[in-house]
Amino acid sequence: MTTKTEVKQYLNYINGEWVASSNEEVTESISPANKNEIVGYVQKSTKEDLDQAVAAAKIAQVAWRKLSGAARGDFLYKVANILESKLDAVAETMTREMGKTLPEAKGETARGVAILRYYAGEGMRKVGDVIPSTDSDALMFTTRTPLGVVGVITPWNFPVAIPIWKIAPALIYGNTVVLKPAGETSVTAAKVIECFAEAGLPAGVINMVTGSGSVIGQGLIDHEDINGITFTGSDQVGKTVGQGALARGAKYQLEMGGKNPVIVTDDADLDLAVEATISGGLRSTGQKCTATSRVIVQSGVYEEFKEKLVAKVKEIKVGDGLQEGTWMGPCASESQLNTVLSYVEKGQEEGATLLYGGKKHEEEGLENGFYVQPAVFDNVTNDMIIAQEEIFGPVLALIKVDTVEEALDVANDSKFGLSASIFTTNVSNMLSFIKDMDAGLVRINAESAGVELQAPFGGMKLSSSGSREQGEAAKEFFTSIKTVFVK
Ligand code: NDP
Repeated sequence: MTTKTEVKQYLNYINGEWVASSNEEVTESISPANKNEIVGYVQKSTKEDLDQAVAAAKIAQVAWRKLSGAARGDFLYKVANILESKLDAVAETMTREMGKTLPEAKGETARGVAILRYYAGEGMRKVGDVIPSTDSDALMFTTRTPLGVVGVITPWNFPVAIPIWKIAPALIYGNTVVLKPAGETSVTAAKVIECFAEAGLPAGVINMVTGSGSVIGQGLIDHEDINGITFTGSDQVGKTVGQGALARGAKYQLEMGGKNPVIVTDDADLDLAVEATISGGLRSTGQKCTATSRVIVQSGVYEEFKEKLVAKVKEIKVGDGLQEGTWMGPCASESQLNTVLSYVEKGQEEGATLLYGGKKHEEEGLENGFYVQPAVFDNVTNDMIIAQEEIFGPVLALIKVDTVEEALDVANDSKFGLSASIFTTNVSNMLSFIKDMDAGLVRINAESAGVELQAPFGGMKLSSSGSREQGEAAKEFFTSIKTVFVK
């Protein structure tokens, strides 16, 4: 057990300085692998701290936007190199703080480095188009202008990649940033911001204020000097962000949940489908917005697929993400564990058959962590709660269908539309899926989770609101188009 005296305290980063909260209160961030281990203390900040950060960002934006894109890009290249040099340490902190396995945490940190480099290059790419004017003596073109100060509210499930995929495009297009990271992963966020600080970005360009969602998150939504808010998290909080921003005319971008289906047709390569369902559904303990949760299987291969799936799920080694050989770490928090357990109970109450798992691990060594067995449900119908609500845990719901058309109807019968995949060898099934599946990401013979940083990311229906994140698409949110007419 870690004692209070050994544990480091992490400060807010405001106007180029590491500072304590004005009320000098801190909260502890604990490890989900062992609730007695404190990973660090973080500031329980106040509205006053937030006001200082926003004021600093507002002042800094005046000079930051005047730099060339290439000069802003140079800073991002520096941040990328620093993060790369600290990759192992940042990844280890992530694993300790939110539980995903060390190889996954390293992969995510490497992705953060790649995102920074991608957007560093974006500083040299085109920002507008020349549009022929009806006046032959005039030149008409578009350029882009930054929003101003952007509020960034992030979740705990990708504590390095998500802040970076919002901060990097915000900065490259000339905005300054105030980050409010998730409470569960504020130490990891501080490690990321340390890289920006070390790279020597001008004071006020990037700020981080830790604290509760209701004070700091809500404070960002309501702050009149925040010109845009980019948010990833639950659909409930997302709605609050959208309504609050809309009420005062600020721009907003919301990435929320998913209830992502995989369709397995009679002609599919079943081994590939099993492998991808497990990887897509259970990696990161199912805590990805793109995680597979509804497994819609055609009747001709249903029994065979089910047997193969359950046999493989039983082999999954659950444990501390820092230990070699662990395939699945704990849930990120006690409340997340309780959510998973309550959905497992609801599924059984509704009449689904629990084929395997779904219980809290109480074995020696795991009893102090938020560990749950991966769960597989059989006899699920799509109207059940476990097939409609986002669980955000390692729970797979098997749904039997007779035809590919029925599979598509079931897949689309959801309030979410983030990611969807199909396993089939039939070209016409592939084409129907591409055309008729209502999801922002449609993936053929590949797991539902898995996003390339240079491509647009986002969903339909309740999954997203506002323009897409990542890749070139990010500029739609972080800039406004200016149409220029020169005569
Ligand atoms: P939340 O939506 O509560 O949290 C996301 C972020 O919003 C955090 O930084 C949080 O701060 C902040 N926040 C909370 N309340 C407010 C508020 N009133 N105003 C502004 N910001 C606020 O998600 P949870 O972490 O509680 O997870 C709950 C569920 O959300 C999960 O079970 C999952 O279903 C879904 N989720 C989806 C994600 C996705 O990638 N789409 C990611 C994470 C969760 P704080 O941490 O301090 O509460």
